[in-house]
Amino acid sequence: MNLDYPITYIKGVSVQRAALLYTELGIKTCNDLLNFYPFRYIDKTTFYAIKDLQPSTAEVQIVGKITRVKSVAQKRGSRLVATFQDATGTMELVWFKGQKWIKDALKINEPYVVYGKLNHYNGNFSIPHPDLELVKDYKKKLQSKMQPVYHSTEKLVNSGVSNKMIRGYVQNLIQQAFDIITESLSKDILEEYKLMPKREALLNAHFPKNQESLAKAQSRLKFEELFFIQLQLVRKKLINKTKIKGFVFENVGPIFNNFYSEKLPFDLTNAQKRVLKEIRKDVASAAHMNRLLQGDVGSGKTIVAILSMLLAIDNGYQATIMAPTEILANQHFTAVSELLEGLNVKVDILTGSVKTKKRREIHQNLEDGTLHILVGTHALLEDKVVFKNLGIAIIDEQHRFGVKQRAKLWAKNTLPPHILVMTATPIPRTLAMSVYGDLDISVIDELPPGRKEVKTVHRFDSNRLSVFKFMKDEIDKGRQVYLVYPLIEESEAMDYKDLMDGYESVAREFPSPKYQISIVHGKMKPADKEFEMQRFVKGETQIMVATTVIEVGVNVPNASVMIIESSERFGLSQLHQLRGRVGRGADQSYCILLSSYKLSEEAKTRLKTMVDTTDGFKIAEVDLKLRGPGNIMGTQQSGVLNLKIADVVKDSKILVAARNTAISVLQDDSNLSKEENLPIKQAYIKMTKSSKIWSNIS
Ligand code: ADP
Ligand code: MG
Repeated sequence: MNLDYPITYIKGVSVQRAALLYTELGIKTCNDLLNFYPFRYIDKTTFYAIKDLQPSTAEVQIVGKITRVKSVAQKRGSRLVATFQDATGTMELVWFKGQKWIKDALKINEPYVVYGKLNHYNGNFSIPHPDLELVKDYKKKLQSKMQPVYHSTEKLVNSGVSNKMIRGYVQNLIQQAFDIITESLSKDILEEYKLMPKREALLNAHFPKNQESLAKAQSRLKFEELFFIQLQLVRKKLINKTKIKGFVFENVGPIFNNFYSEKLPFDLTNAQKRVLKEIRKDVASAAHMNRLLQGDVGSGKTIVAILSMLLAIDNGYQATIMAPTEILANQHFTAVSELLEGLNVKVDILTGSVKTKKRREIHQNLEDGTLHILVGTHALLEDKVVFKNLGIAIIDEQHRFGVKQRAKLWAKNTLPPHILVMTATPIPRTLAMSVYGDLDISVIDELPPGRKEVKTVHRFDSNRLSVFKFMKDEIDKGRQVYLVYPLIEESEAMDYKDLMDGYESVAREFPSPKYQISIVHGKMKPADKEFEMQRFVKGETQIMVATTVIEVGVNVPNASVMIIESSERFGLSQLHQLRGRVGRGADQSYCILLSSYKLSEEAKTRLKTMVDTTDGFKIAEVDLKLRGPGNIMGTQQSGVLNLKIADVVKDSKILVAARNTAISVLQDDSNLSKEENLPIKQAYIKMTKSSKIWSNIS
């Protein structure tokens, strides 16, 4: 017996049922089943007598006999009804599904232990789809007062694979395999964290002795699960650092220095300085940089990106900055070109709308090295784009680019360029550990001085007139206003109509020539979008009516009011991003969240959070709690969604301990070759057998 064997090796598991368990629950090997944990446990300490049942009793356990079984026709199909009696009375057991299979299996006049939810109808008690077990079998089994309940599917239930059956399989498996379950953590770790040994933990996770052993078992298994994920991530990071060579930017040269002392329009914040130091240290070492830069909207990531690119150029390399949208790419291009004016650095932009002739010229200049910085969108990833010597790639708003796309940039070089991924979506620390645990992380946690916090209020639609009045007052002071409408794909046509209706009513309220309005949405041609954007940027229009295309990165410091229509339909991080479009200048800025009166609890929490705080990390924490890690950008490719027992939100303390332990184990013994780490190594090899990570090491 080996835990990698298919579950057909377990007593009682037929080939057909094994196949079902695989397709329905992904359970293939004995190990899979061992790691298929119950999601709750039921109290099996009390037995009821039928005469003592009350309509209010929820779940009951009764010993008695089935005296007869019959099929009863009903509106659609039929139900199977068994008469069940003990010494005190009679009741019914009822099945709507899997009837044929059940009918054949039921034994008449033999004592059963019955368990299930109690129904009460017309003075009669019944239990639909009860758990049934012959008393003689019941007595033979491992008795646990807390009985496990496993997740199931409709198909499994219909095919007669009940919870009880799964419970039986797990029980048989544990009885068959108990001795070959091997410890996967070292003695030191077990002692340091007072963790339950593996066998005992598995036994108690399925058939807990009591609440206390259950808690101990679960925390041991959670630790283990998170520990091995962290071990992989930390290991990958170490390999990156030691095995993957990177370009060395030895010199901080004349361009960087000249820019820093002559052109920098402001003093860097301490956070910007710290991050720049971290980057400089990376690129000056022989290792490859793979760094995530997190900084809230407006924290000043762009200047850090520019300075990093100058480091590359001073050392004879090219640099690129990739943005998720054309608008953003254009904005970066303008910012970079303006800041670097007079420095003899050649900058260009490549997006989908660049014409063939210009495109060829860019390709040429890239290949012969006369072009130093290329700003662009996805268009940068086309095969035709070949750099002479790309030294650093900056990726803005990373969650929109997948890992694959990042790898594509790599493929363009002999050595991978240093990678700096910038994101304005703060990721809670624990989640970042799981999702980006193999990257180095820098955080700009300080806003440039003199920023006033954006004042945020929530108003119902019925207050629209006073909101218009407020807009007029601000515009009279020379400010500009954003008015954003939701555009959510499923209801695109309707949203589009909302936007147009909104535009018309705003146009009526704010007539030309006094007022000028820009409109930008996803259905416009890039050139038209750009034209409208530019009118707003230049101050020719005072109001920008838009969909969320402006969510990312648009920078108009004179805009001081952000009005969000149907704000209850936006997610927290989107609201936060939108709000980040204002508060960029010296003036007091405002964000007005408009909504209808009908709000779900979750929507209320979102709007309240926005009103209460402007701290992106706090907002991200709330978002994570509301939606779970599965819906947070960037998590889709990571393992945090496939956790069997741990939860990155609820088990954050265990996660931190697991990560620290993984780091200290690998620092002390990077190849896991020490005797005391043998259990870890064996478990790790098994886990990563098929994954690239291990092949990288050996
Ligand atoms: P984000 O991190 O959202 O990309 P940006 O880089 O666009 O932020 O910076 C937002 C604004 O703050 C820009 O107008 C930029 O010029 C300004 N800024 C950045 N750093 C500083 C600083 N240290 N002092 C003053 N203003 C700064
Ligand atoms: Mg930015």
